[in-house]
Amino acid sequence: MDPDSSTSSTPVTAGIDRSRLEALTERELKRFVSDHPVSQEYSRRAQRSLVSGVPMPWMMRWASGFPPFAAHANGATIVDVDGHKYVDLCLGDTGAMTGHGPAAVVAALRQQLEHGLTMMLPTADSFEVAEELSRRFGLGRWQFTLSATDANRMALRLARQITGRRKVLVFSYCYHGSVDEAFAVRQADGTTTSRAGNVGPAVDPAVTTTAVEFNDLSALADALADRSIACVMAEPAMTNMGIILPDAGYHDALREITSSAGTLLLIDETHTLSAGPGGCTKAWGLEPDMVTLGKAIGSGVACGALGVSEDVAERMLAQPDADYEDTGGVGGTLAGNAFSLKAMRTTLSEVLTPEAYERMIPLASRFSRGVMDVVAAFGLDWNVTELGCRAEYRFQPTPARNGTDGWLAADPALERYLHLHAMNRGVLITPFHNMALMSPQTTAASVDRHTEVFREAVADLLAAS
Ligand code: PMP
Repeated sequence: MDPDSSTSSTPVTAGIDRSRLEALTERELKRFVSDHPVSQEYSRRAQRSLVSGVPMPWMMRWASGFPPFAAHANGATIVDVDGHKYVDLCLGDTGAMTGHGPAAVVAALRQQLEHGLTMMLPTADSFEVAEELSRRFGLGRWQFTLSATDANRMALRLARQITGRRKVLVFSYCYHGSVDEAFAVRQADGTTTSRAGNVGPAVDPAVTTTAVEFNDLSALADALADRSIACVMAEPAMTNMGIILPDAGYHDALREITSSAGTLLLIDETHTLSAGPGGCTKAWGLEPDMVTLGKAIGSGVACGALGVSEDVAERMLAQPDADYEDTGGVGGTLAGNAFSLKAMRTTLSEVLTPEAYERMIPLASRFSRGVMDVVAAFGLDWNVTELGCRAEYRFQPTPARNGTDGWLAADPALERYLHLHAMNRGVLITPFHNMALMSPQTTAASVDRHTEVFREAVADLLAAS
């Protein structure tokens, strides 16, 4: 998740009557409260023992003031403690892109529960997963973590270790988990600064990081020219400020510029695994030095993976001063545990298969068509972008080309109304922006339900008051 992605400074959406928006949001909030007495009671109780009344403060970002508490989830459906059933297009912000509890994974994990969860010993699943990830992403060597964040942190440490350089480069308004170096944005004067709200940074992010805009090749080349950058950390398409696709030829140039500067290229496929079984790396023929993954590859079981090229692996192991085995800062007692590896192995072999993507990807197109039909019918200037089984609408006429443009196009109040309206009618989309994700178990009828509800929300908003 990206807790900061919809916090733009000023709403920009044209043609929206703000007082009507406010009144409709109030109406929807009242409806939510009256429909969710049990969640409200739980929430009041949780306020006494949990920071912000939820297990993690970002859970308060659901549009409803307090979140519906979940009772259970199955496939692409969640049921809350008040008995409401939701079409789940959020899917745990990708953690449940497999659908909740896919049968094959549940069966394999049941067995694993009886055979040991964490033993400080490798299991055969470790090389099975590594071999499958190599086939999909083209990188020869793998290590495992418990989250994508951790895989990214480890990748940056390795990059600094083997290049002997201190800095990393990221794209403004990226999100790679709670990775210190990534909370940096480029200012209008070209300098790098801390992202607003950054909690307790150890040092000014400008010390560790150079931020440039995505799709700006000349800024990238300039930033890498002095050969001080160890690693470029990039999502192949940005997904945490809307979906921002690379310009034609961007990735070829990114690879060329990084290679000639001796800078490693880390591609974070945590979300862009939506593009296909081997993410954008496979779909677009990318050749990164490192790839990170997490979330969906374990069907929601805590997991993460870092793939490195043979060259990177050799350079790592050739450095006797680097303590990979103990206190070098790249550890994790539960990392690579038997349960997590079983989840990854079964997810890859039986759930996120090429055949599954053939069902999931057309559903994202169906979602986009539904949204665009409504947008066209009401004469709105909004766009939808797709990346495989992921789609997202934004309140601007054309898709953003970089994170700052995407950030400026956010309209938190409008998002809140649309999300809340949908929630009250049994549809969940990701709370931080307007992303919908399709699982192998999502149906066309669920997608059409979203279109219906979206049409109603927009019609209400634009009706004369
Ligand atoms: N990479 C990307 C691209 C992400 O969007 C996220 C979280 N949304 C992460 C990494 C971190 O994932 P996690 O919070 O599961 O560690």
